[in-house]
Amino acid sequence: MKILLVEDEPRLNSFICKGLEQQGYTVDAVTTGSEALSLAATESYDLIILDVMLPGLSGFEVLENLKKFEIKVPVIIVSALNSSEHVIEGLDKGAIDYIKKPFDFGEFLARVRAVTRKGLSRSFTNFKIAHLELDLLSRKVFSNQQEVGLTKREFALLELLVANSNRVISKTEIAEKVWEANFDMGSNVIEVHLSQLRKKLGDPDLIETKVGLGYYIQGELIRS
Ligand code: CA
Repeated sequence: MKILLVEDEPRLNSFICKGLEQQGYTVDAVTTGSEALSLAATESYDLIILDVMLPGLSGFEVLENLKKFEIKVPVIIVSALNSSEHVIEGLDKGAIDYIKKPFDFGEFLARVRAVTRKGLSRSFTNFKIAHLELDLLSRKVFSNQQEVGLTKREFALLELLVANSNRVISKTEIAEKVWEANFDMGSNVIEVHLSQLRKKLGDPDLIETKVGLGYYIQGELIRS
């Protein structure tokens, strides 16, 4: 698991870096947003730990740029900006978690571990389940070895269900992870996408519905 740490305060940078390395993580530590962006564009990270108040680009601007360049790495913000407005802004801009400074290191590590458990990590580049194969790098899907053309959203939806196979994923979780902030819970857009996905995959039973709870795919997931 490879982590990019962006923190301009030298002592905190080295403290977090050492603490993560002791847990067996590989860490690239930088002090500015622009260094972070150029590394994130060329290297493959499982997680970015991002300070907000940085010289030059702020952490929020880094998040905006990651989104703009479609660099999909989970980001945890670690910041001394501790008002709800800042937390909301960070999460709305795409961070998956927001840790307020000063923080407890044990809790910090637990939040880092939670990212891997959620299956958001990029350590795996290939998922196989039932007759499906997902190539996470080229974002291609094969059903019985035949490529299936999916939209970006359909791919993200399928990836979420496959990564969490055998677990029921609620509509709320799908909205948060696939649609991010731009989602109206009253709409039937998830149902429409699911029905389209089932049709394209040529298998109406692969994605199962648990009425009132959500959706799931059953089977043994092989990650490689
Ligand atoms: Ca700072």
